[in-house]
Amino acid sequence: MSSVDANTVAVLVERHGDHIASPTFEALTLADTLGTPVAVWLGGTPSPEAVQQLGDYGAVQVRVIDADVRIPSVGAAALAAAGHDAEVFVVVSTFVNKEIATRLAMLTGAGVVVDAAGAEVVDGHVETTQTVFAATWNVRTRVNRDVAIVGVRPNTTQAVVIEDAALPAVVEVPFEAPVTRETLVHAEPVKASDGVPLAEAPVVVSGGRGTGGDYALIREFAELLGGAVGASRDATDEGWISHEHMVGQTGTTVTPALYVAAGISGAVHHRGGMQASGTIVAVNLDPDAPIFEISDFGVVGSLFDVLPDAIARIRQVRGA
Ligand SMILES: Cc1cc2nc3c(=O)[nH]c(=O)nc-3n(C[C@H](O)[C@H](O)[C@H](O)COP(=O)(O)OP(=O)(O)OC[C@H]3O[C@@H](n4cnc5c(N)ncnc54)[C@H](O)[C@@H]3O)c2cc1C
Repeated sequence: MSSVDANTVAVLVERHGDHIASPTFEALTLADTLGTPVAVWLGGTPSPEAVQQLGDYGAVQVRVIDADVRIPSVGAAALAAAGHDAEVFVVVSTFVNKEIATRLAMLTGAGVVVDAAGAEVVDGHVETTQTVFAATWNVRTRVNRDVAIVGVRPNTTQAVVIEDAALPAVVEVPFEAPVTRETLVHAEPVKASDGVPLAEAPVVVSGGRGTGGDYALIREFAELLGGAVGASRDATDEGWISHEHMVGQTGTTVTPALYVAAGISGAVHHRGGMQASGTIVAVNLDPDAPIFEISDFGVVGSLFDVLPDAIARIRQVRGA
């Protein structure tokens, strides 16, 4: 294996087939502030374009393990092998990666923090920031072990392209998968929700009971902004939209740069899943709706009046 400088930071590549998910680039940018990023590609072989993309965001090496890593114990073992010299591991905080991170910590004795919004090295230790308890507390955590594992939330770091980045070396890492207690017999992705995955989307437009079940404007606005469609639990319970769109304590936690809540009252269970978003915009008929307490911009009015106006204005400004 070709060597890299000290302070290797192993970044697990999050991808859909050969398409690298944008939170991977954010994780690489964060890794670059902690040490020397190496990208870890588990399963299959990256295309030359994918390797170049990883280099563009700071990876000096792409380490490849061709193993079926859909079982977290195998993923953790593969990540441990690929990052055998790493002082820090960075993964995107998805459900499966959080399990991989904790199993990796068991294997390596590392300290682990998931759902981080940032990380830095302070006095030789990795320190992370997070929001916890339904985003009601900001917390700073220090990892006391020599090796740190950081699960980082999407949209919390601005990905930065490195000018004239060199093409990273691709290194095949030998790996023998551990014998597992379970065997994956069959797996296929649930039909993807429309557009960008909710947890990764830089913009989320959510509709609640106030939509009355009509999501046409919510979808149109989300599409216009390049975002994903979210929903409150009441809306998904009504069967107006599928459960994979649910934002909140029971649903997906999102931290987009922009979160639009239309016809959502802002119950604590909903807020817990979106309160850490960058900018929050609410549209609600009720001026006393709790959602306005955490909103940066609030519009009192019907979403059926406000959203068409906003859509028309944005199209006008864009000249489309
Ligand atoms: C254990 C537990 C877990 C939960 N987990 C979640 C979760 O993960 N996610 C979640 O969302 N909820 C969750 N809930 C449910 C949560 O408590 C609320 O009941 C739910 O979020 C309310 O959804 P809503 O805001 O769409 O509906 P409502 O509270 O009924 O609010 C509808 C809002 O729409 C406004 N409105 C009506 N018409 C219009 C219009 N034309 N234009 C603009 N505004 C309009 C109203 O003024 C009102 O504020 C959970 C509850 C429990 C008990």
